[in-house]
Amino acid sequence: MNLNLKDKVAVITGGSVGIGLAIAEGLAVEGVHLALCARDGERVVNAAQDISRQYGVEAAGIKADVTKAEDIDRFVEAIKAKFGGCDILINNAGAGSEETILDAPDARWQYYWDLHVMAAVRLARALAPAMIARGGGVILNNASICAAQPLYYEPIYNTTKAALVMFSKCLANELIPHNIRVNTVNPGLVLTPDWYKTATLLTEGKDMTPDDYLDRIAKDNAPIGRFASPEEVADFFVFLCSDRASYSVGATYYVDGGWLNVVT
Ligand code: NDP
Repeated sequence: MNLNLKDKVAVITGGSVGIGLAIAEGLAVEGVHLALCARDGERVVNAAQDISRQYGVEAAGIKADVTKAEDIDRFVEAIKAKFGGCDILINNAGAGSEETILDAPDARWQYYWDLHVMAAVRLARALAPAMIARGGGVILNNASICAAQPLYYEPIYNTTKAALVMFSKCLANELIPHNIRVNTVNPGLVLTPDWYKTATLLTEGKDMTPDDYLDRIAKDNAPIGRFASPEEVADFFVFLCSDRASYSVGATYYVDGGWLNVVT
């Protein structure tokens, strides 16, 4: 399938590892130039250089913490200086939380609100005008199955990801007259290095390997009985970026191996 993405420019937050890196690589294969950001400057610069070398696209890695408005401003300036703007924005940076509602202070709520919602708001507001000037574009928000089916130990994650889904829907309505398609992807279990690190920690000194632990989580939750690879989720993002998905607007797609337990 020809995706017609060659020489487009994509911005990906959290593009240095995990799902964001897999999306970056998936887009680079299609000839898309990239601006990636993450807090660990060295890792994101290295990721961008590796992609550039391997796929022959232009790729910039920029240190930025998307919970901070001033870092987003710097990131946007760097994107505009290098590419003039972008055709694709993928709000991917995010992290799980662990708390109870009764114990978590305001600052914790504020951090995840900034990470999962305000980063997407600020980047859309800053980058959509240049997209409109280029004739249109695509904005994808990486939320989570937890936006609809909460995990008990992370109420702040569940709540802020649900807010991201609603923001995405509202943004889609506002931007489709300008030929910008906005959609959300809700992944289920995706085997990133971080999951593996957690499994290693939790099985230390126990009669269980990290792989056994992950296998149990997958079998207990996802009908498919396994984790997705980051690439399996990334392929779906790449398709949504292309004009082969031209009638997909304001939708939320689950890529979860059947884990969502209701019909929506
Ligand atoms: P990883 O932890 O593997 O990667 C997260 C990426 O985001 C890294 O590049 C990280 O770099 C960056 N990042 C984190 N915080 C910030 C910040 N404040 N500012 C800028 N960059 C940041 O995560 P995943 O690939 O697993 O997750 C990606 C997205 O997918 C997240 O939004 C997550 O909620 C969602 N998701 C993941 C699932 C999974 O099972 N893995 C399931 C459902 C949804 P650095 O640390 O250097 O900042």
